[in-house]
Amino acid sequence: MSNIETDPAESACGAEAVETALEFLEPRKVVLGRSTEVRRLLPNKTRRMIGAWCFVDHYGPDDLTARVDSYDAPGATGMLVPPHPHTGLQTVSWLFEGEIEHRDSVGSHAIVRPGELNIMTSGNGIAHSEVSVPDGPATLHGAQLWVALPDEARTTVPPAFAQYVDLPVARFDGARATVLLGTVAGVTSPAPSYTPLVGADLTIDPGQALALPLTPEYEYGVLVVAGRLRIGELTAAHGEMVYLGAGRSSVALADDLSMEIEGSRCLLLGGAPFEERLVMWWNFIGRSHADIVAARADWQASIDAGGNDRFAKVPGYPGDPLPAPGLPATELKPRGRSR
Ligand code: MN
Repeated sequence: MSNIETDPAESACGAEAVETALEFLEPRKVVLGRSTEVRRLLPNKTRRMIGAWCFVDHYGPDDLTARVDSYDAPGATGMLVPPHPHTGLQTVSWLFEGEIEHRDSVGSHAIVRPGELNIMTSGNGIAHSEVSVPDGPATLHGAQLWVALPDEARTTVPPAFAQYVDLPVARFDGARATVLLGTVAGVTSPAPSYTPLVGADLTIDPGQALALPLTPEYEYGVLVVAGRLRIGELTAAHGEMVYLGAGRSSVALADDLSMEIEGSRCLLLGGAPFEERLVMWWNFIGRSHADIVAARADWQASIDAGGNDRFAKVPGYPGDPLPAPGLPATELKPRGRSR
């Protein structure tokens, strides 16, 4: 196709030309292990990604003393996820309450605590375990987030784990944002990302409001984790997420009648729309069915061999790794950012 007009009218392709979307993303309840129920915001039936953010689970607050959740350790309480693999992504573990013990195949051993960023870059392959800390806090409340790696980085960046205990904070009148990734109001996280991206944990004091500056090239999701928040013309409560399409330079946020608690709190996730098509299956992200078949075979071989070149053994984990489920009968197709 070619434009054959000799004197074409100028067409506005910038922000003004786009009806900027503002929509609810319905959470979907998913049971992990025997009894841990999480709310899955991404992938969603209407949106698969927000920027490179491709997976968002929100869980809790849960009372860990009240239930048993374990794949293979009857009697254990809290989170118990044995070693399992990842490819083609970064995991971002973010807690509001509680503690989780992380171990991985590059030899990391870390305690994930509220307000501290734990980011794991899989590159072509990594494995990790996540377990509630014995005798740790009784309440667990957090988010498990994945960031898709772009094709040029996904097999070439080395597997790595990093912990940031002292993240920068952007301060507003009546609100503050801990910056996990990217930049908020000129305040930049030291953590690495491979696409234009932002993540922040924003607290708004009771009855307060602000115009939060945004990057017009980014799309955003606002996941409310405490209180009730007005986001533009919409209102969202605990566990609900609102999607904001690209083209905004700010968004009006206001704590909504949550005076009786401690204001509102939300995760802001955003980034430049991710244009590559992905195949996401189990804990793997690839570009083709064959990528997933190979990753699964390499993981199963790693279990049999006690570690291999792609997925080393997770040192210090006392139990067995998690086997991959069987592949689906049909071919996995690459999918784009929205449905
Ligand atoms: Mn994982």
